[in-house]
Amino acid sequence: MLESSCLCGTNRLTFDGDIIVRMRCHCIDCRKFSGSTNTNNILLPIAGLKILQGTLRTYAKEAETGNTMTSYFCGNCGSTLYRRSSFNDEVAAVMIGGIDGLQTIENGRADVELYVKNRPSWMAAIQEAQQEQGTWLPKH
Ligand SMILES: [Zn+2]
Ligand SMILES: [Zn+2]
Repeated sequence: MLESSCLCGTNRLTFDGDIIVRMRCHCIDCRKFSGSTNTNNILLPIAGLKILQGTLRTYAKEAETGNTMTSYFCGNCGSTLYRRSSFNDEVAAVMIGGIDGLQTIENGRADVELYVKNRPSWMAAIQEAQQEQGTWLPKH
């Protein structure tokens, strides 16, 4: 089980269930909402989500793929804890930085890198990860 919390600590969640895939995404939307070069996230079944504390706000935006991506974030400190896609409502992309405990992050190396066309030249590819020019969506 993974526990996730935001910067101010108002929101705390747990996710139960097996990791479906680990992703590093270089899309422009990930850049914007994270404020960094890319995101790292872990795809987990939404059925395993349990809210321990707080109420996350949501922000929905149509992605390049035409799917609607919804961010679940803290209305107080702004941390995005997970995102969901209209493409597959059974999963959540849990942002790796919100997960508490170093071990999950240590084990969080991406299995697939998305939108590598946007990856800055000074950032190395993850050699073991599948490289995708654009998106890649896990099937239902
Ligand atoms: Zn917060
Ligand atoms: Zn992205």
